[in-house]
Amino acid sequence: MATNRTFTMIKPDAVANGHIGNILAMITNGGFKIVSLKLTQLTVADAQAFYAVHSARPFYGELVEFMSRGPIVAAILEKENAVEDFRTLIGATNPAEAAEGTIRKAYATSIGENAVHGSDSDENAAIESAFHFAGREQF
Ligand code: ATP
Ligand code: MG
Repeated sequence: MATNRTFTMIKPDAVANGHIGNILAMITNGGFKIVSLKLTQLTVADAQAFYAVHSARPFYGELVEFMSRGPIVAAILEKENAVEDFRTLIGATNPAEAAEGTIRKAYATSIGENAVHGSDSDENAAIESAFHFAGREQF
């Protein structure tokens, strides 16, 4: 059964390019409530673990380097059908294929540096949320 929470990161490219405020505005205008929020940074080990599912892919090393190279914004978001609706709001992995009005269409620069992460399942949303936020940081 679908839960009403998902996890997101504003990735190092979008933070470095000054897009935190505009991306948070797109998220709240999209009907998502922010229930947790922080500026933080992934270690290399964190990024390796987070994207372990891609460890055999040719872009894995580049992905780990990118995701750990600077600060990110981590957040837990709440909305009915959160996981699926947030994937719709962020758009396709490759910004060249992302629909008009999506966050990646507006702010991603390449398939690798694509501005935002969105959980791909309720199970992963819970795991990713618990990695970044203690219970008392979830409102
Ligand atoms: P995310 O998990 O970050 O929300 P996603 O679910 O849209 O993205 P995945 O297939 O899970 O896409 O890939 C994880 C990340 O790996 C992508 O967001 C992107 O940063 C990177 N990536 C995926 N495919 C490629 C590729 N062909 N070349 C370079 N980087 C890639
Ligand atoms: Mg993914």
